[in-house]
Amino acid sequence: MKEYNPYNQMLHTLDVAADLLGIEESDYNFLRYPERELKVSIPIRMDDGTVQVFEGFRVQHCSVRGPCKGGIRYHQNVDLDEVKALAAWMSLKCAVVNIPYGGGKGGVQVDPTTLSENELRGLTRRYTAGILPLIGPEKDIPAPDVNTNAQIMAWIMDTYSMFKGYSVPGVVTGKPLELGGSLGRPEATGRGVMFATREILKKNRKKLKGTRVAVQGYGNVGRTAATLMYKEGCKIVAIGDVSASYYCADGFDIDAVNDYWDANGGLLKGYQAPGVVEIQHNELLVCDCEVLVPAALENQITEEVAKEMKATIIVEGANGPTTHEADAVLEEKGVTVVPDILANAGGVVVSYFEWVQNIQSLMWDEDEVNRNLEKIMIRSFEEVWETAQKGDCTLRTGAYMVAMNRLVEARRIRGVFP
Ligand code: GLU
Repeated sequence: MKEYNPYNQMLHTLDVAADLLGIEESDYNFLRYPERELKVSIPIRMDDGTVQVFEGFRVQHCSVRGPCKGGIRYHQNVDLDEVKALAAWMSLKCAVVNIPYGGGKGGVQVDPTTLSENELRGLTRRYTAGILPLIGPEKDIPAPDVNTNAQIMAWIMDTYSMFKGYSVPGVVTGKPLELGGSLGRPEATGRGVMFATREILKKNRKKLKGTRVAVQGYGNVGRTAATLMYKEGCKIVAIGDVSASYYCADGFDIDAVNDYWDANGGLLKGYQAPGVVEIQHNELLVCDCEVLVPAALENQITEEVAKEMKATIIVEGANGPTTHEADAVLEEKGVTVVPDILANAGGVVVSYFEWVQNIQSLMWDEDEVNRNLEKIMIRSFEEVWETAQKGDCTLRTGAYMVAMNRLVEARRIRGVFP
């Protein structure tokens, strides 16, 4: 079997969309090459006095439409190809929802659950110092991603500000409210996933109410999506995270799950309730449900999983959860995939609102944030839907077409330097 390479996955979809759009190779090949790739070593003094060195990355994929934008991931499997792919997906994502950003991404190869708070802060500060020449509110603006959160953004903001000599809140988004974070930002990705699910169900003349949903991943995105869909009347029939996966044919009481999760250190392991059964992780993806929300990592819905899957709709909360080999199987089976660069764009949309608020030194109320998010999600969904209908292609290809049109046009108008 060919080894999975997320960057090659991205290139594949790029070519398919370019072909449908009739774009010449020479007009879009700039999207094949990230503008900048930085690799840094991060020595930190551990609590036991020894020094350990970690590897970190920041990739700026494309700044044609504005400053680079994208999260920072802490995970033991982070490598350059993954960060490159994630950065490229950010360029495409920001273009799909038409916010004035390019794409970037960062990551550190570390399992943060093995670090103390002191070590985590040290790692974050030293990594920030390493990528300092690249970042800034007008250049490249990090945000949370897998295993990073508002506290980590606060440390990045503080470290950057110490080097500058004054406070620069706009250097990162996803900050705590006290430091210029935005209301609605922590829930934004999950809320966007809920909107995307609602819109695709509408196209199928269905409603959220009563729809049976399985959610893989119970971090910021999965938990919020499950909670908001539950509030809208969905039956959440399967949930899972690294620690355990569960199935409940009648649907989970998500409020009870969340109480357990809060008290259990942010893990699902050990959850018990009438009708709830523990299942294998790989059973979750193929369980009996109508909508599947992968909200964990890349490369989850492979060809084999796609063949076995029962859901008829996939809404990608994670980045890159479906391989292009699986996409072909799903298309053949008539499964609709709302692609990552559209479905999970709510996070970066509200990051954009946060950055705008920081630049103007003002604060929107939560209603305004959520209303504007909903407007952008619906508008983008419709654009992608129309493009896919016209092109007689999948929503993923449609989303890439919308994004590439904007990116290629911006490149054409700017021209090639020098
Ligand atoms: N990490 C999130 C994503 O993959 C959010 C990025 C951001 O807000 O800049 O879209």
